[in-house]
Amino acid sequence: MKKNIPELYGSLVFNDKVMKNKLPKDVYKALRKTIEQGTHLELDVANAVAVAMKEWAVEHGATHFTHWFQPMTGITAEKHDSFISPVGNGEINMDFSGKELVKGEPDASSFPSGGLRATFEARGYTAWDPTSPAFIKDDTLCIPTAFCSYSGEALDKKTPLLRSMEALNTEAVKLLHILGHTDVHRVHTTVGPEQEYFLIDKKLYNKRRDLKFCGRTLLGAPAPKGQEMDDHYFGAIKPRVLAFMKELDEELWKLGIPSKTRHNEVAPAQHELAPVFDTTNVAVDHNQLTMELMKKVADRHDLACLLHEKPFEGINGSGKHNNWSLQTDTGVNLLEPGKTPSENIQFLLFLMAIIKAVDDYADLMRISVASAGNDHRLGANEAPPAIVSIFLGDELEAVLEAIEGDRNCDETKRVQMETGTKVLPHFMKDTTDRNRTSPFAFTGNKFEFRMLGSSLSVAGPNVVLNTAVAESLSQFSNRLQAVKQEELPLAIHDLLKETIKKHKRIIFNGNGYAQEWVEEAKRRGLYNLSSTPEALPHFIAEKNMVLFTKHHIFTKEEINSRYDILLENYCKIIAIEAKTMLEMLQKDFLPAITSYTSHLSDEVIKKKQISAALPTTYEETILHKLSVALCDISKQLDCLAKEIQEAEAISDFSLCATYCHDTLLHRLDTIRTYADEVEPLIPEQFLPYPTYGALLFSV
Ligand code: ADP
Ligand code: MG
Repeated sequence: MKKNIPELYGSLVFNDKVMKNKLPKDVYKALRKTIEQGTHLELDVANAVAVAMKEWAVEHGATHFTHWFQPMTGITAEKHDSFISPVGNGEINMDFSGKELVKGEPDASSFPSGGLRATFEARGYTAWDPTSPAFIKDDTLCIPTAFCSYSGEALDKKTPLLRSMEALNTEAVKLLHILGHTDVHRVHTTVGPEQEYFLIDKKLYNKRRDLKFCGRTLLGAPAPKGQEMDDHYFGAIKPRVLAFMKELDEELWKLGIPSKTRHNEVAPAQHELAPVFDTTNVAVDHNQLTMELMKKVADRHDLACLLHEKPFEGINGSGKHNNWSLQTDTGVNLLEPGKTPSENIQFLLFLMAIIKAVDDYADLMRISVASAGNDHRLGANEAPPAIVSIFLGDELEAVLEAIEGDRNCDETKRVQMETGTKVLPHFMKDTTDRNRTSPFAFTGNKFEFRMLGSSLSVAGPNVVLNTAVAESLSQFSNRLQAVKQEELPLAIHDLLKETIKKHKRIIFNGNGYAQEWVEEAKRRGLYNLSSTPEALPHFIAEKNMVLFTKHHIFTKEEINSRYDILLENYCKIIAIEAKTMLEMLQKDFLPAITSYTSHLSDEVIKKKQISAALPTTYEETILHKLSVALCDISKQLDCLAKEIQEAEAISDFSLCATYCHDTLLHRLDTIRTYADEVEPLIPEQFLPYPTYGALLFSV
């Protein structure tokens, strides 16, 4: 049957069209005002919205509702309540009140709170976020909410995100008003996250403890073929994968998630999905749902969707590109180089604010993408380096150089853009060439933050980006506020010039994978925080505390609690990997070696019984190699077991994280080297789990 996509699209979302239809006019108006301007919603309005929402949800088969939230685990959480309410005589009504819509008390005492909330006062509450529309998933009305402690501390990823969007809005509007754009009342950030993932056969997945417990393979010799032929990238999509993609798209569309592009990626079995961008808050919710649905739909196709940053050694891992821009309520993309002089001055100011922000808070940008999984990618030659830098492209860099040097732009460099003032160079909208190695690249009318790991919630990186840029804008406004109108162009010129001088060190258009860059970055004084345990302590640096508290994103307590959660989470992940390695070796790999060596020795004995003259060199060579490996690996295993115990005995999270990184991970690598060396010697029927070849090439 042919599907009517426009009809399907958003059919499970309580979106603007539904609201307009279902809500009394004054209620609709009040709700819109809350959504657009963040005004308080009165309880009677909430009650009316609740009634309409319930009616609509029940019409669409919903039996339950839930406050859908994003605790610090990085995934989403939901606790379902049914609409039923007994009215006596064994009968029920389907009820849902404004109070239930606006606020929930899920208890939820087991989520990480980093000490913000002792379990004896377990109550955390969820508060409706009307800026992200409610939707139906699994016959349940899902209401996007923020999750806070009773004293108001944020326990989730959404609360700081909303706060950071508000901070950026305030500062951006202030600056625009100074520039004379008093028609702008709100500025929001937009995000389009490109999502990479792997699809492998579910039966094979289920045979691997490492994939099930850790999301990545801890063992596995390379297959004869990897990604060297580049024959997967943008290749024709196989029918089984296409069937998955089709169903995924439809599921996403029903939820109003504008999934737009789908293609094969560089690594075998790797794919990518990108939606059309949206307001940051909505984009974050949508990306969480996308990841959830990818796993669910894959399962229906007997596939397993891997969102880990590095499921397979030796081939590319998966990331997420956070495309980001600023949009006014008058419909202007502030990062679109404009057509008129004033637009271009505005563009340059916002551009410089971002450059300054990324330079001032490069450590926070790095931290915002730090995770045990992503540590395997950043700095490897497939993902941006761990050093944060900005790619602008030659044209735009020439413009900044011209401003710095009080020169006009070199026209041969095609940098003509009307700025309408003698003090600012004219330049032309550039044709940004692509630099795939840059962590933070200007791509024509937006920035693309490319360091994110594939499984990461995009909330964190956007909190940092929004807040850091809000701070730059605030400093710019302070400088320009008192300047007389006629002196503004000169003042802006001076401000830009100064800012370029101070922050140009963060701009790098070259090859981010090159070793020379590491040295050059060091000379420039840029951060190179190579691992999560190395990066995280910068989170609580004084300057970062000042930033977050000044803009009311986090209190000191919230920062400290998040710091603890991040460290603890890192330690837990590495501990799970270590224990999984132990189990896999003890239950799978070493017994496999034993069975095969015993088979080989039986063969040798049998042959000798037939005739002492029969050669047994092959069997004996393999037997020897495997016996040595068995010995080596079992010794390593003893060390690993001891080190796991040691790690668990360290109570200080920061010390524990360092130990996990320096000792446990190192041990896992060593063991892997031993195991992967002999894995190819073991025949398929003796190996208890599928090889890389099977995992990567069977769909
Ligand atoms: P790529 O070449 O990197 O694959 P695309 O042109 O496919 O880039 O776009 C990548 C993403 O950027 C898409 O999700 C798109 O919606 C998003 N994007 C485009 N414009 C903006 C914008 N103004 N703000 C945020 N994201 C945007
Ligand atoms: Mg991209």
